Amino acid sequence: MRKLMVAGNWKMHGSRQTTQSLLESLKQSAAPLTHIDVVVFPSFIYLPQAQTLLTNSAIAYGAQNLYPGNAGAFTGEIAASMLVDLGCRYVLIGHSERRALFSETLTLIAEKFQAALAASLIPVLCIGETLAEREAGQMEAVLKKQLDSIIEKAGISSFERAVIAYEPVWAIGTGKTATPEQAQQAHAYIRQLLSGADANIAKTTRILYGGSVKADNAAGLFAMPDIDGALVGGASLEATSFLAICQAAVVRQEMVRA
Ligand code: PEP
Repeated sequence: MRKLMVAGNWKMHGSRQTTQSLLESLKQSAAPLTHIDVVVFPSFIYLPQAQTLLTNSAIAYGAQNLYPGNAGAFTGEIAASMLVDLGCRYVLIGHSERRALFSETLTLIAEKFQAALAASLIPVLCIGETLAEREAGQMEAVLKKQLDSIIEKAGISSFERAVIAYEPVWAIGTGKTATPEQAQQAHAYIRQLLSGADANIAKTTRILYGGSVKADNAAGLFAMPDIDGALVGGASLEATSFLAICQAAVVRQEMVRA
């Protein structure tokens, strides 16, 4: 049985003060969340605060990016080993904002994915199509290309220690979430792609949905058989909404276990 996960991508938001208050609020409410995995992704510079506040709590944390090289002359970059040094367990790889705004190629993303695994970090691989691609009937081709480039480089067995987030680009930060049926269709296709390489990996790999997940649409998404949680942007910046999404995942997890 796959354990649901709710992850918060804080993007380039926050300050020392908001990081402190948000993490304190999440920590205080984390006790009933033990049946699911809860992860937050603050900005790099607030990771030491996360380490101080979240060590020995039910909430894990990770980084939004890494550079796929060891220590060296890479000005401004952060190595996987540095994230491990700060107690990170997870790292986002291939977020659509990095693909689009920072020109990350399939090759670079695959290198980052592999660097994460080599450092024993759990990569959360983000894949998804743009609106133009969806409207042109290319959703499946895009998802296949994004997933295949990882499987070719890192091997299908790498998904024993990785999480996938399906994030349709048109739903990110737009308030226009995919319907549960649209999301389910994409998730089932991703699972089918995994299954083509390894049926067992397909069964065990968690596939999160991301794209304008809010407290009022989370339960509908989590009711879908191939949706194993959410990667949440905007709604993760406020404790009440993020915790409500976590609570919807707890309810779903309990239902599946019953
Ligand atoms: C994201 O950035 O990964 C995301 C899903 O953002 P939002 O929830 O704000 O759409």
